[in-house]
Parts: sequence; structure tokens; C-alpha cells
Amino acid sequence: MSEDVDRLLRRGEEEPRIKDADLYETVEEVFDASTVLTILSLIRKRVLKRISGVISAGKEARVYLGYAPDGRPLAVKIYLTSSAEFRKGILKYIAGDPRFQGVKTSDTRALIYAWTRKEYRNLVRMREAGVKVPEPVAFLNNVLVMEFLGEEGKRYPLLEEAYKELEREELEIIYKQVLEELEKIVCKARLVHGDFSEFNIMVKPDLDIAIIDVSQAVDYSHPNARDFLERDVRNINRFFKNEANIDVLSDEEVLEGLF
Ligand code: ADP
Repeated sequence: MSEDVDRLLRRGEEEPRIKDADLYETVEEVFDASTVLTILSLIRKRVLKRISGVISAGKEARVYLGYAPDGRPLAVKIYLTSSAEFRKGILKYIAGDPRFQGVKTSDTRALIYAWTRKEYRNLVRMREAGVKVPEPVAFLNNVLVMEFLGEEGKRYPLLEEAYKELEREELEIIYKQVLEELEKIVCKARLVHGDFSEFNIMVKPDLDIAIIDVSQAVDYSHPNARDFLERDVRNINRFFKNEANIDVLSDEEVLEGLF
């Protein structure tokens, strides 16, 4: 594989060569050969030029800061194909979604590829509906490439990290925006986020927000969509009421506004 990597990274005379050691340092220890090949394939397709430091190392996925050939920063989310528990966890979101009929649920790798594709499609659908999510750039197998939300290589803080530093008025502005995004997700994109919380909302310096981690979002026709939506509303209202300490609408009022 080393020769392969070397050859791939040498192509493109105009570009300075990236040391294969850089790529290896970042990805080789954690990922299997097929994931490394997937990343190389994205490099060959000129989606990516290189992968830099880790932004987040979760149990199911790792998110890296990457760069496009034009220097644009990217977020590269790589799902770990080895997590059997993850397989069980995602089944309930894939089963019942009309977009994922025919995916063999016994095949963990196929399921994770479908999951990656689902997150990409959910991003596309939300973007088209005007929801503030990172712009989807590409996906291949278990790798999703999207716009990097941050500045100078530093990601924006999550609402969970930012709220303690914010004034009441600022939190009220954010709550209003959160409800607006929720409405666009449900009424325009016809999706339910399914994990809507202070951990999946980013806060930009101008108090604009972005919604992330849309992999588990389901079509509104999903049999559990209503339950997922009620849970999303409960979670977000609980956060703003109990943690951010601002006045919130009741869960019922929020839900009524979505129909
Ligand atoms: P997980 O399902 O592993 O929680 P997330 O999609 O929530 O994956 O991403 C994990 C973390 O990576 C986020 O909490 C955030 O800090 C960072 N992250 C995710 N997407 C982006 C992005 N587009 N730009 C910058 N940072 C991101």
C-alpha cells in the first residue's frame, strides 16, 4: 500500500507533494485498509487534498479537519466500520425509512455505508430547505466530506460549550433561531432530526447557529417520526429552560407550530 499512497500523493506536478507520513500519522493507526483506500480515492478525485488534525473522536465516528485542493477547509467525518453496537443502534433509524429499503441489515459494512449516504442526503435535503447545516461536499463508503464550520482551523463551539458565557438576551436570540431551524427541518425538509440538542448546535461569533450531526434524521413518514420529534422538542426546551434559564414555549406550543 505504501507505494500506492506514495504514487497517489505525488500526482499533480503543480501541487507540493504531501508526505505519505502525514496521511499515515492521521489515519493509518485508526482505520482499516479499505477506509485508507476510500480516503485516497477522495484525494484522487480531488475532493480532498489532505487530512489534518482530529476535531472529534467519538465511538462511532471521527471528524477531521481536512483541506480541499483549493485550500478550503473541510470537515471529514469517518464512520468506524468495526462498531457492532453501532449497527444495533442505527437499525431503528434505517428500518422504516423508505429511502433505505433493500439495504442488507446483516452486513455491518453495508449498513454503515448506507448510514453515511443517509447523512449526506439529509444534509442535501436540509440545505435545499434552507436549514443552516454544513454544506455537503461528497461522500464515499464510510467517509462524508462537508463544509468546515469554524475559523482558522478551530471549530465553532457547540451550544453546550458556549451557553454559560452568553447573556440572557443572547440566549433568547439563539432559542428563537433554534425554533426557526426546527420548523424548516420539519415543515420544509420534511425530516425529523432525531437527536436535536445543545450538543448538535454550533454557535458562531455573530450568534448565528448551525445544526450538525443529521445522520439519524428520518423522513417524516417514518413510523417513529412523531415520537422522535416530541423527544427533540422536549430535549431542546429542557435545555433552554433548565440550563440556559430563559422563558420557553411549552412543548405543546412548539409542536403546534410545526403543523
Ligand atoms: P458524532 O455523531 O460522532 O457526535 P458529529 O457529527 O456530532 O458526530 O460530530 C462530532 C463533533 O465534530 C461535533 O461535536 C463537532 O465538534 C465536530 N464537527 C462535526 N461537524 C463539523 C463541521 N462541519 N465543522 C466543524 N466541526 C464539526
